Amino acid sequence: MSGPTPLFNVNEFDKEFYEQKLRDFLPDTFIDCHTHLWLNEHYLPIKDEWKRSCAWPLMVAPTSSIEDLNETNELLFPGKKVISVLYGHPNVKIDLKVNNEYVARAAEQFGYPALYISHPTQSAEEIEEIMKNNPCFKGLKVYLQFAPAYIPNDEIRIYDFLPHEHLALADKHGWVVQLHIARPRRLADPVNYMQILEIEQKYPNLQLIIAHLGRAYADEDLGDALEYLKPLKKTMWDFTANTNQYVMERVLEQYGPERFIYGTDFPIFRMKARRVIENGFYINEVPKGSLGDVSYDSHMREIEGEEAKKITFFIYEEIDACRRACEKLGIKKEDVEKIFYKNSARIFGI
Ligand SMILES: [Zn+2]
Repeated sequence: MSGPTPLFNVNEFDKEFYEQKLRDFLPDTFIDCHTHLWLNEHYLPIKDEWKRSCAWPLMVAPTSSIEDLNETNELLFPGKKVISVLYGHPNVKIDLKVNNEYVARAAEQFGYPALYISHPTQSAEEIEEIMKNNPCFKGLKVYLQFAPAYIPNDEIRIYDFLPHEHLALADKHGWVVQLHIARPRRLADPVNYMQILEIEQKYPNLQLIIAHLGRAYADEDLGDALEYLKPLKKTMWDFTANTNQYVMERVLEQYGPERFIYGTDFPIFRMKARRVIENGFYINEVPKGSLGDVSYDSHMREIEGEEAKKITFFIYEEIDACRRACEKLGIKKEDVEKIFYKNSARIFGI
């Protein structure tokens, strides 16, 4: 007798990687602060001519249901219990209203916390009303794609998609605000780090989370940012979709494990991949044929033959980089528990 076909295959190499490097490092229960859900019927009938984000993440999964998310955690982390923080799919092609409603239903059903994807054109009154009616939403997920279309991609500033009106509202209620910064220099860009600092100082009651460690995937992406960001008192850093041990160490060193949180960016990081940096530019190496044609994307490279068999799940690489950073800095088990559970439990009210 065989059960239903699993969502994806976990092979011997993957199982060994998990057993040897990750299983004992991870607490029995942990919280993933960063996941995306969307269904086919959430897409708007518009053509994809307008590119504001990388194309490769969408090749991993055309849709991402709550059932797929739960199965992903069961397949990847046997013996563990995972609580996911749910968001919709922040994309101009998605009907955000329908998508947010689906996320709220999934959150209610499983008792997970969620974030509401807000659009910069929404009034504060409208957002406040929706949040009041959906207590599963613990705050806002904002995204650069929703900045006004006339602003060139490389020039998007935080306030273009996270207006002061929304910040003031989040501050009033003490909400979480999850921020994925724009601009080619990423965290190293002074526009980004000056505005991050300004947000914390002007709106001290909201809980800011900097996604992907400020998208500092290469050492160079840090620049002088951490020097300027020293005064930050409570902003949290999620290392979602980041596999850079050096960057993790620098952030952990400066802010401590109390300000560092785990997230996956599922479904994206369930893909098989590892990341290499060449001249400050990140490249995801994937087993040949595992994602379809990636030749048009300079951030992607296909690996063939025996070498390809040594590529495991991207999320395993992320957690392993965190493990190595914690080991190097001598971070104790109870502090690892903060990174994977307690910090998120506190800010999301779990
Ligand atoms: Zn994400």
